[in-house]
Amino acid sequence: MEDAKQTARPQYGMGQNVLYMLRTAWRTRKSVIALCAAQALLSVASAAVGMFFAPAALGAIETGAPLARLLGIIGAFSLALLLLGALAAYASANTEFGRIQVRMELFSRTMHKSATTALANAENPAFQEKSAKANAAMNSNAAAAEAIWDTLRQILENALGFLLYLSLLTALDPLLVAVTLATSAAGFFSAHRILGWGYRHRREEEKPLKRMEYVLNQAKNTALGKDLRIFSMRPWIEEVFSSARRAYHSFHARAGKRYFLADAIDALLALARNGIAYAYLIAKTLSGELTVAEFLLYFSAISGFTTWVTGILSSFTTLHRQSLELSTIREFWAYPEPLPLEGGETPPALRPGDACALELRDVSFRYPGAEKDVLSHINLTIAPGEKLAIVGLNGAGKTTLVKLLCGFYDPTGGEVRLNGRNIRPYNRPAYQALLGAVYQNFSLVPASIAQNVAQDLESFDRARVQNCLERAGLGNKIRSLPHGMDTHLVKEVYEDAEELSGGELQRLMLARALYKDAPILVLDEPTAALDPIAESDIYQKYREMTVGRTSIYISHRLASTRFCDRILLLADGKIAEEGTHEALMAKGGEYARLFEIQSRYYREGGEDDGGSNASE
Ligand code: ADP
Repeated sequence: MEDAKQTARPQYGMGQNVLYMLRTAWRTRKSVIALCAAQALLSVASAAVGMFFAPAALGAIETGAPLARLLGIIGAFSLALLLLGALAAYASANTEFGRIQVRMELFSRTMHKSATTALANAENPAFQEKSAKANAAMNSNAAAAEAIWDTLRQILENALGFLLYLSLLTALDPLLVAVTLATSAAGFFSAHRILGWGYRHRREEEKPLKRMEYVLNQAKNTALGKDLRIFSMRPWIEEVFSSARRAYHSFHARAGKRYFLADAIDALLALARNGIAYAYLIAKTLSGELTVAEFLLYFSAISGFTTWVTGILSSFTTLHRQSLELSTIREFWAYPEPLPLEGGETPPALRPGDACALELRDVSFRYPGAEKDVLSHINLTIAPGEKLAIVGLNGAGKTTLVKLLCGFYDPTGGEVRLNGRNIRPYNRPAYQALLGAVYQNFSLVPASIAQNVAQDLESFDRARVQNCLERAGLGNKIRSLPHGMDTHLVKEVYEDAEELSGGELQRLMLARALYKDAPILVLDEPTAALDPIAESDIYQKYREMTVGRTSIYISHRLASTRFCDRILLLADGKIAEEGTHEALMAKGGEYARLFEIQSRYYREGGEDDGGSNASE
């Protein structure tokens, strides 16, 4: 189905993709194109020299040429072949590096798209599928993004060979050319159609294979061993297996007949072609129109010609497939962005301390492809400098609400406003520059601690980094490291990297948010098991950093939200309750109930949060 969809409507045609690759190579490494052409020329030249070799030697013998001349001919041809072979080997040895470089060019564009695309895309399964397909089309030397050069070389080589042999054979008899051309093409297309049957019916082959694989895995699975025995499932399992095996064999028997047919047709056509050519050439030789040497030359030209014709056709088939894959890569790059990542309006230039009021006006939201709204008709105003906590059970929509406030998604209904203006038209990176955030899931850049804090690889203020690290409670840790804030992070990339603990990483993210010094703060509390002392210290840091800033704090631990001015309890995509901790407790509603369960749980030393949210 998917393949059919993909084959039916690639966004970029074969010509466009070939041109694109040529242009990319021209920009990145011109030698890729030159070497391709050189390889094709050398290969055709080598085939032509090979073809003339025997007839030339035979011709010399036929005409009774002196031995020296015969040896001279043999020597010249051998030398030419040797030289061409050496040049071809040289070209081939030098071609790989450039091709990889061109492929890496495609890689970097793909990476750029993945890294910069809207979160709405990154979380969308359709986008993820496209991304996986695009990656598959360039993740190895044999993938389309690199293998296409071989195909283009083959097409050029076969086309040149075709033209050369065509001119030679046309001089002899155009009719003979027509017969050879027709039988070669007929052979190719019949084989192609028949072999295509296997591709069209591949599901029939996959289905029993998958069933057999499943049954085999089940049978091997020791965990299921008890079930299998107690419930006497063995005969049933065996029956499923053998019926799948029968289906598989019957498919192969049918396929085998078709493949045999393909071979038989090909053999018959080759017989007809060679029979006609033989008869024609023998007649001409007997009547004295052709010398024996010419007979040999033309005969091998005919079989060579067939090879060029089928070569052209089959390399175009390969090119077609590779073009579909390249189209997937380019479709991925062109995947539409739902938000103004580039362009758009410039949001107001707000500094820390400037008044920032956020508002959700009748906001509803539904994820692409989902059946129901995650948030419905939410009205919420966050006053400048207010600290708002959002609590609620897992799946209540807290993270989604924050994603809307951060401008990662646009609401499906209503407006998100900053100081009274809808944020929808704002350039998103510029809007997000106004936000500082500490998320539960964060990414580390394989660089130094300081570079991670500053989010800048080149220039940053060391004193400020140090100050932020101190304020986040990492001062002692940094002093204990031999390279201090210049210590590398991410072991997979740097051998000497330092591995920070969960709590330390959380503090690092805090330092990062402090360094950014944005007017709006989003704190998505970690669920990582921090020990209670570290946790209370982190809460204290949050409290300090939110002073004077509009902040939104998501928490699964209700007791930790006390530093906030207002608490919002989300349930079923709606604001179920809101107010200060005291007011909500006094109200004795859902918040009070959850708070009671949680505090009992913590008093009893539980490790989880008693059914309350463990956000994601
Ligand atoms: P919370 O943060 O309160 O745990 P979320 O906002 O993460 O809740 O999730 C709210 C609902 O939205 C859940 O039912 C979740 O399954 C769904 N959801 C979250 N993210 C996505 C997504 N990217 N695509 C589709 N559904 C999602």
